[in-house]
Amino acid sequence: MAAMYWFRRDLRLHDNPCLLKACQENDVLLPVVIEDWHSNSTTRWGYTRKGTHRLAFETQAIEGLDRSLKVRGSGLYQVAVSNALSDAVSDLHDPITAGVDALIDVAKRMGITRIYCEALFAPHEQREDAQIKKAGITLVKIDQSALLRTSDLPFAIEKTPSIFTDFRKVVEAADVVPRAPLAAPTSLPTLPSIEAALSALRLYKSRGEEALPKLDERSAFPYQCTPWTGSQAHALEHLARYFGSDLPQTYKGTRNGMMGTDYSTKLSPWLAVGSISPRQIYAALVDHEQRFGTNDDTYWIWFELLWREHFRLLMQRYGSRLFVRNGLAKQPPLVNPNLTDKKAQARLEHWIAGKTGQPFIDAGMRELAATGYLSNRMRQNVASYLVNDLELDWRAGAAWFEHALIDFDVSSNQGNWAYIAGVGTDPRGGRRFNPAKQARDYDPENTYQKYWGTA
Ligand code: FAD
Repeated sequence: MAAMYWFRRDLRLHDNPCLLKACQENDVLLPVVIEDWHSNSTTRWGYTRKGTHRLAFETQAIEGLDRSLKVRGSGLYQVAVSNALSDAVSDLHDPITAGVDALIDVAKRMGITRIYCEALFAPHEQREDAQIKKAGITLVKIDQSALLRTSDLPFAIEKTPSIFTDFRKVVEAADVVPRAPLAAPTSLPTLPSIEAALSALRLYKSRGEEALPKLDERSAFPYQCTPWTGSQAHALEHLARYFGSDLPQTYKGTRNGMMGTDYSTKLSPWLAVGSISPRQIYAALVDHEQRFGTNDDTYWIWFELLWREHFRLLMQRYGSRLFVRNGLAKQPPLVNPNLTDKKAQARLEHWIAGKTGQPFIDAGMRELAATGYLSNRMRQNVASYLVNDLELDWRAGAAWFEHALIDFDVSSNQGNWAYIAGVGTDPRGGRRFNPAKQARDYDPENTYQKYWGTA
């Protein structure tokens, strides 16, 4: 009997233990992705979950995956939501779960009772899993986009230290290191006949170059160009290029940069769609240190990957609490904005459009809209400005990042926003970045602001 492999945020064949398990346990396997229904889903703040940059980058990753599957004698099928919904077996028509309804429909029509996929921990994905189980389908899941295996950690998930420094110290004292990444399968099981599910399933079809938003030459992550596209091939090419150069030797000193492609690792977009795994990055870092030497800068790449790991674990520990206004705090945030207020709505729109009148902030917001990427330094600044200066709900800002960022990652995004808003895990209880001082420190000649036309 056939099984299904459902690709979620793991759009890769390398270091994919759950895919390997599916290959070992089945003679016939149907690899699928769910068609992008999310793009039409609008958040309570009035914008879609996936903007054009995010959709385009993710599409490149899916196309790369399809090519890699074809080379191995398989291919990628796309679950088409609109068709499947019309005669869905489930009576759930919540748009949030429509994609999974369609997936269940396909499985039932084809007599598939087992779906393999990566384990994800945000409330939305947990709901998807519950829906599949309720339909009587067995889910075989592996948590495989983490740096560290949870069973290697010296604490249970529900005891994850909330403060980053405490977490890092415990992990380092216990000498927990990532496991070695796994190779991609050399071949895949046979594809099943999809006759029974023809109206709900189609072979993945490339959307082609014309679907790409135009390249902005100023982009710090020019994903429209080789070798920056979302595919796993380009992810691995970038990994080899970055760690084969001496850039990591100066990472700590350059990571607060804001212009160009080389000031930080630029690995987050590929990590976000899963065309690379953090264990592959760690292996490349160790290899680099053996060839070029270890210093504080190379250590800092590990340090930053631990931030990502910490936010993933916090999502597992706190789940939906990271989506409410009070976050993890006992007290509500000092600012209590009401976005039905027209003035507040106008402030949000000005922030999004890069028209607040604060040139440093506006430059960052224009870069984000034009390219889908923003440096960590500018993310901190624009987030702080929304919370502390514009006095708006931090979740509206987080939702805009979800729409705009090609590296949107629910745990890192929600965790960083809550941290800056003072309702997360910042031991100082939130922080305001003074934009004028930040501009003096990080853009003393106004180069960045001139670049984005705000000075
Ligand atoms: P590098 O500086 O090269 O860091 C290497 C890797 O370490 C990154 O790829 C990332 O995986 C991890 N990392 C670095 N800084 C952080 C951090 N503060 N938190 C978590 N992981 C980190 N990162 C995302 O991947 N997705 C998001 O949706 C996201 N939203 C953010 C929202 C706000 C308000 C802020 C302040 C930060 C956010 N970050 C997010 C974290 C960080 O800004 C990006 O990971 C980083 O800028 C990506 O560029 P890079 O890969 O060159 O990072």
